[in-house]
Amino acid sequence: MQNKYREFEPKKCWVGETQKICYDTREEAELAARVAEYDHGINGLGVYKCEYGDHWHLTKGDTDAK
Ligand SMILES: [Zn+2]
Repeated sequence: MQNKYREFEPKKCWVGETQKICYDTREEAELAARVAEYDHGINGLGVYKCEYGDHWHLTKGDTDAK
């Protein structure tokens, strides 16, 4: 019996009008940010704790550069 749906599928949640991947820990989110920066040749990705649940999301740096 094969169950293809058991493959890793990231948890997501809706933030405003976009669906964002949830990371369980800050470390996991930061690692994902570094990988995304490398893959896409961007920088300044940050992480923040979701206000709707106990997990973390990535964010593009520009807007919260306080
Ligand atoms: Zn969330």
